[in-house]
Amino acid sequence: MNILQDCSGAKRIGISGHIRPDGDCVGSCLALCSFLKKQMPDAQVTVFLENPPETFKDLVGFDEISGDFDVQEPMDVFFALDCSEDRLGGAQPIYEKAVKKINIDHHISNKGCGDVSLVVPEASATAEVLYDLLVQGGINKEIAEALYVGIIHDCGVFQYSNTSPKTMEIGAKLIQFGFNFPKIIEETFYQKTYLQTQIMGRALMESIRFMDGACIVSCVDKREMEFYNVTSKDLDGIVNQLRNIEGVHCAIFMYQIDVLEYKVSMRSDEMVNVAEVASYFGGGGHIRAAGCTMKGTFHDCVNNLSFHIEKQMKEKN
Ligand code: 5GP
Ligand code: MN
Repeated sequence: MNILQDCSGAKRIGISGHIRPDGDCVGSCLALCSFLKKQMPDAQVTVFLENPPETFKDLVGFDEISGDFDVQEPMDVFFALDCSEDRLGGAQPIYEKAVKKINIDHHISNKGCGDVSLVVPEASATAEVLYDLLVQGGINKEIAEALYVGIIHDCGVFQYSNTSPKTMEIGAKLIQFGFNFPKIIEETFYQKTYLQTQIMGRALMESIRFMDGACIVSCVDKREMEFYNVTSKDLDGIVNQLRNIEGVHCAIFMYQIDVLEYKVSMRSDEMVNVAEVASYFGGGGHIRAAGCTMKGTFHDCVNNLSFHIEKQMKEKN
């Protein structure tokens, strides 16, 4: 794939990523946007995202992210990053109408979509895939910073098993641009607000272990979210904390999105392929980090998930 060739002659370019955008999604979209604006100064480039987390506000282009999806005239090129078309949310109709659709992702569950598609499951992040594509045309400090944010958020600051020697090599090349990377790591990855820490504390307190401690689940309902005055964006990191517990091979964190409806996040080690579990319920993700949306009571959801998790664990033993 050559991005500049694919965009050749384009006047209006749109970029979007998945709903509930995370660091890789926001970082990838803003890196590509800065790159295209630099390389194609006559083109109009717009990033469309629903409620990007304020933690990423210091990235160049964050303030211009559009949450207005009412776009009638077809875009010449539209990029779906870090997801397939079905997770674009409000941006999906803009993608559908675009003259040329390009998909760049690293989710193993994405079979690719659009006219040009590049899905690299070995890559730690979509930003890692983008690095190779953007470096051909030349990157600068602001592009490097956005790519770096994308990578660190998906590989847990070079800690998770998706971190490869290549991930670290790219990280090394990016920090040569001289941005303040310890500050970025601290402020976007580790720092939590007091309320985020409180709801995490509550979720950890009320977690339940099952399958002899091999699995753990915790759930936050709407009432609790209202009490702590938090939204879904404030719940990031809880599932990782659950997975850190000794003996736990698979952690499940759920939060209520509607009556009898939950958003599920899962994390695992080599014992469980959670992308496979999530895909049974219409979701997806990576082998060790995946999610889905489920209907039913909390207990229905846990029973359905644990059936597949237990099956995999039995096959492994
Ligand atoms: P998280 O648990 O952090 O929300 O998501 C973990 C991984 O699974 C991310 O890569 C995310 O994009 C993916 N993921 C989470 N929920 C869904 C979902 O409902 N569908 C799909 N296809 N992927 C999901
Ligand atoms: Mn990603």
